[in-house]
Amino acid sequence: AAPKKEAASKQQSKGGGLVVKKAESVPDWYAEVIGKGQLIEKYPVKGCFILRPWAYKLWEQIQGWLDTQIKILGVENCYFPMFIPKCYMEKESDHLDDFAPELAMVTKFGNEEIDEPVAIRPTSETAMYAAFSSWVQSHRDLPLKLNQWCSVVRWEVKQTTPFLRTREFLWQEGHTAYAEKADAEKEVLDILELYARVYEELLAIPVVRGTKTKAETFPGADYTTTVEAFVPATGRAIQGATSHHLGQNFSKMFNIQFQDPKDPTGAAIEYAYQNSWGLTQRTIGVMVMVHGDDKGLVLPPNVAGYQVVIVPLGIKASSTEEDKKSLAEVSQAYTKRLRAAGVRVFLDDDNTNSPGWKFNNWEMKGVPLRMELGPLDIQKGEFVLAKRNILDQKAGKVIGKHDSLEDDVKRTLDEIHNELYSKALAERDSRLATISEWKDFSPNLNEGKMVMVPFCGEKECEERMKEKSKEEAAEVEVAGGLKMGAKSLCVPLELGLHASRAAVEPGMAWPTDGDVRHCRLCL
Ligand code: AMP
Repeated sequence: AAPKKEAASKQQSKGGGLVVKKAESVPDWYAEVIGKGQLIEKYPVKGCFILRPWAYKLWEQIQGWLDTQIKILGVENCYFPMFIPKCYMEKESDHLDDFAPELAMVTKFGNEEIDEPVAIRPTSETAMYAAFSSWVQSHRDLPLKLNQWCSVVRWEVKQTTPFLRTREFLWQEGHTAYAEKADAEKEVLDILELYARVYEELLAIPVVRGTKTKAETFPGADYTTTVEAFVPATGRAIQGATSHHLGQNFSKMFNIQFQDPKDPTGAAIEYAYQNSWGLTQRTIGVMVMVHGDDKGLVLPPNVAGYQVVIVPLGIKASSTEEDKKSLAEVSQAYTKRLRAAGVRVFLDDDNTNSPGWKFNNWEMKGVPLRMELGPLDIQKGEFVLAKRNILDQKAGKVIGKHDSLEDDVKRTLDEIHNELYSKALAERDSRLATISEWKDFSPNLNEGKMVMVPFCGEKECEERMKEKSKEEAAEVEVAGGLKMGAKSLCVPLELGLHASRAAVEPGMAWPTDGDVRHCRLCL
C-alpha cells in the first residue's frame, strides 16, 4: 500500500491523476474515476449514491434530447405517485412475482403500522393502468401515450455499482396504449431506435438492437426488445435500455377496453395493446466504462457538461500589462462567441491554479476539448485545441484560427465524437465471435468475448447453458472466467452486425451434447 499512497500524493500535488490503471482492476479504477471525476459521492444507504452536478449535467443532456424526441412521437409527460397499493400489484401475478424479491414496502409511519402497506414503485405499469382504464372508453381515446421522468426503487440483491446497478435509479418510463396491435408494435421499434441513438449519437457507443429470449423477457410482456452495449475492459455486455410490447396482458387485468368500431352492433369489446419502455442513468455508467482511461473520464461531446474549457496561459513575470489585458479580453470574447454558437464552454481564468493543474483537473473530469490561449497565439490570430481522447502532444492537437473559431471548435467536437465511436466499434467488433459448436462457447466467453450462437431461445436450454458455462469457467476463474455463467443478451435484429460479418447459417444444430441436443437455430 505504501508505494500506492506515495504515488497518490505525488499525483494529487500535480492537480489530479488516477492511482489505479484501468487494465489493473476495472472495479477499483471505476470507483476512483467516478469519485475523482466528481460524478459520484458515497451515501450511507447501501446501493444508493449521490449524483453530483457534473453527473447530473450528463443526465440533463440525455434527458433533454430524448424528451424532445418522444414528444415528436406524440408522447406527453405526466407524474404518478411513487406508492403502489397492494391491490394493484396483485392484479398481474407474473409481474408481481418477478418484482417481489426487490420490492421495498412502506409498512410504518412514526410508530404506527400502516393498515394497507404500500410498495415503492419498481416500475409503474400497475400504478398507471387503473387510471388508463377510466381514461379509455372509446377507440377515440386511443392512442394514449404517456411518459414520466422519475426515480424507481429495486432493492437489488446483486452487487450494486454506481450508475450501472443501484437500488434507486433515475429513469424515464413510457407507457402507451393503442387500438391496433400493429401500431403498438411499430412504436416498440421506434422507441428502441431512439434508445440506440442515445448510445450511438450522444454517448458514442455502438449497440446491438435485439429481442430478449423468453428467460429474459420483462415480466408481463409479450416480448422485450433491447439495446446491448459492450464494455471491452470487462469483456461483458450490458443491457442498455428496453422497450416492451405488453400485448393485452395488462389491459385485460386492468380493463383497458373500448367498443370495437368495426362491429356494427357496438357490442364487441376490444382490449388495448400496450407498450412500456425505459432508459436509465445506467447510460452514464456505460459511457464511463467504455471511454474512460488512466487519466480519468473521457466525456463524449454531445453529453459533456462543458464541451470546451478555455485555459488562458503564457503570462510570465516579464509579460506586459498590455499582454495580460488582451489575454483576458480575447478569452472572454471567445467564450461569448462560442456560447452564442451553442457550444457549452467554460472559461477557467482562476488565477489561484496553474495551467498544469487545470490541464490535469479537466482531463480527470473528461472535458472533450481544451483551448490553450496565450499572448503569442493572440498575436498570430490562432489558438490551440487539445483533444481529451488523444493525449498525444502532436496527434491530439489542432490549431484553430480567430476568424473561424466557431467552425473550428464544432468541427473538432464532431471529430472527437467520431473518433470515440469508431474506437469503441472496432474494439467491440474485435471481441465478437460467431461460433457454431459448444466446445468454442466457454473458451470465447472466458476470453472476454461476446458470442453469436445458434440458439432455440427456450428457457430450459438457457438455464443449461448458464450452468455449463459456469462449470467450465471454474478453472479459469482467476483469469477472469464467467463465474455467474453465460446469460443470453438478445436475438439480434440485424444479423449482419457489421457489414463484413457473415450471418449465422440457419438450420444448424446447437449444441450437440446432452439434454440440449434438441435445440435448433431459430435466429
Ligand atoms: P426494465 O424496466 O426492467 O426493463 O428496466 C429498464 C432498464 O433499466 C434496463 O434495460 C436497464 O438498462 C436498466 N436497469 C435495470 N436495473 C437497473 C438498476 N438497478 N440500476 C440502473 N439501471 C437499471
